[in-house]
Amino acid sequence: MSKRLKLVGLASSRTLRSGKTLANTDSSEKTSPYFARKKRTGSKKHIPIKIEYEAADDKTNIEDTNLISDVAIKTENVETSIDTKDIKIEKHEIEEEYVEQSTDLKNIKDEKQWTPPNWETIFENIKEMRKYETAPVDTMGCHKCTDPNATPVISRYQSLVALMLSSQTKDQVTHAAMQRLNSYGCKPDIIAATPDEVLGKLIYPVGFWKRKVEYIKRTSVILLNKYNGDIPKTVQELCELPGVGPKMAHICMRTAWGEVSGIGVDTHVHRICNRLGWVKRSTKTPEETRKELEDWLPRSMWSEVNHLLVGFGQETCLPRFPKCSECLNKDICPYGSKNIKTKK
Ligand code: SF4
Repeated sequence: MSKRLKLVGLASSRTLRSGKTLANTDSSEKTSPYFARKKRTGSKKHIPIKIEYEAADDKTNIEDTNLISDVAIKTENVETSIDTKDIKIEKHEIEEEYVEQSTDLKNIKDEKQWTPPNWETIFENIKEMRKYETAPVDTMGCHKCTDPNATPVISRYQSLVALMLSSQTKDQVTHAAMQRLNSYGCKPDIIAATPDEVLGKLIYPVGFWKRKVEYIKRTSVILLNKYNGDIPKTVQELCELPGVGPKMAHICMRTAWGEVSGIGVDTHVHRICNRLGWVKRSTKTPEETRKELEDWLPRSMWSEVNHLLVGFGQETCLPRFPKCSECLNKDICPYGSKNIKTKK
């Protein structure tokens, strides 16, 4: 409180001590001598005015101070609000960027999420048609070609040889050739030392038997020198072997090592996927089909899809003259619907 305010305070106390109320007291008595030269009437109003005036200086100062701080605060606020604005803009930009990114991700996701219509029903229908396992692949596929008494290392080698023989060859022919080879001694050291003519006679009449003699012998030597007689455990290394491609490598990983590295797509799988519309656009090679199929088919189904479709292709969805009228998918298969209409 200021000095003058105190004086006024004293005058008021004196007035109260004299027993006079403010109401019946002369204005000169009510006013401190300090203010005597400025005679005023309506002391009730003037005293507070003076005080207010004197206080006003202080107040002004206070206000000035407040003003400064106010200005400072306001300026600060402006700065803060600019900062906030900047942050907001920045945030907005980030949000926009995020929106752009999420749109990109959504597009990628949408692209990834593509699935062919009715594929689950079709899959179940094929399983139903295959439930008795009567196709050649069920009893004579590569997984049935190894010697049951062979060691794991030799068994893996025999799986690989069977796969090499199976290319462009019916399961019955491959299986019979493997029976002869197993009886002869289907081990890498024995095969590597076998004359070409002898090996040729053992595997004949598999498709491209002359070329396969060369591939199998060269592979056996590589396995002995580089892998201690075992087969490699990666798709990449398997594909480096003579005559081994991605389809063979993925199936080999599954049958020999029990690992699912990808979908084995042969001519049956390639053809059926195109007929069923299980590829976004029609594909020209099994390798293209494999990539398309792996894009949407749940990984948990990769191990069974090859075997399922190969058998289905051997019995029902034949390369020429598929048995569409007998197929459980005839009403939902794009190829089957057209095929049946054409025949009518
Ligand atoms: S309807 Fe015909 S083309 Fe379609 S999956 Fe069945 S057999 Fe194959």
